[in-house]
Amino acid sequence: ELNIRDLSVGYHGQAVVHDVSFDLTAGQIGCLLGPSGCGKSTLLRAIAGFEAVLSGAISLNGEVISSVDYLLPPEQRQIGMVFQDIALFPHLTIADNIAFGLKGMSSRVVSNRVAELLDLIGLVGYEMRYPHSLSGGQQQRVALARAMAPKPKLLLMDEPFSGLDAKLREELVPDIRQILKHEGMSAILVTHDQMEAFAMADTIAVMESGEIHQYGTPYQIYHRPESRFTARFVGQGD
Ligand code: ATP
Ligand code: MG
Repeated sequence: ELNIRDLSVGYHGQAVVHDVSFDLTAGQIGCLLGPSGCGKSTLLRAIAGFEAVLSGAISLNGEVISSVDYLLPPEQRQIGMVFQDIALFPHLTIADNIAFGLKGMSSRVVSNRVAELLDLIGLVGYEMRYPHSLSGGQQQRVALARAMAPKPKLLLMDEPFSGLDAKLREELVPDIRQILKHEGMSAILVTHDQMEAFAMADTIAVMESGEIHQYGTPYQIYHRPESRFTARFVGQGD
């Protein structure tokens, strides 16, 4: 479980995320939804441990990982990340890309986990291929598998689909939701696309100018918007 309390994050002492609080239950998929510049990536990077916090705290499974005077290093957080620019390692096979975070485990465990993930992402038979020979959507699946391979406590995804065309995105989003659910993985998706948020999330935080307007289920956000901004942003406004 992830708990974010009264969190402010910013640059050069100037907050761009203001006093944000929300909780994500283990196994749930949360979404940060809002327009460009509202602070989604900043908040996500703070959760990953790449940004210090100006006030408040972040806890993961009951342990404080970020506060004003404490920052657990990113590599010790057991948090996985997937970004928009896929950045698979071009000189490594698909299997080796997926296995990248599994250093130090026995080759038997690694090959079992890789096989399991290839099956899950629908790319059995691709293990010896190289990233350049895969489509954008296939590469994004591999990036997801690579991030999930070490079984992180939380997976963070920053606009992972925005480089893909609309049709591919429409197919991929429900697929990825299924994969995450199958693994029982907690995840946070950052997007400015409301359709993506509704197709993926169990809970959505609607953000504007560094604040969360509303945090709730897709149903609540859509049918019970608590601000004009939320109503407009999800397409229910006047
Ligand atoms: P987008 O949808 O365009 O990715 P976002 O919601 O992810 O936007 P952020 O990237 O978090 O927004 O940016 C929030 C604010 O913080 C913006 O005003 C941005 O200009 C500012 N900002 C982001 N990164 C830095 C930085 N490294 N130094 C200073 N200001 C920054
Ligand atoms: Mg961003």
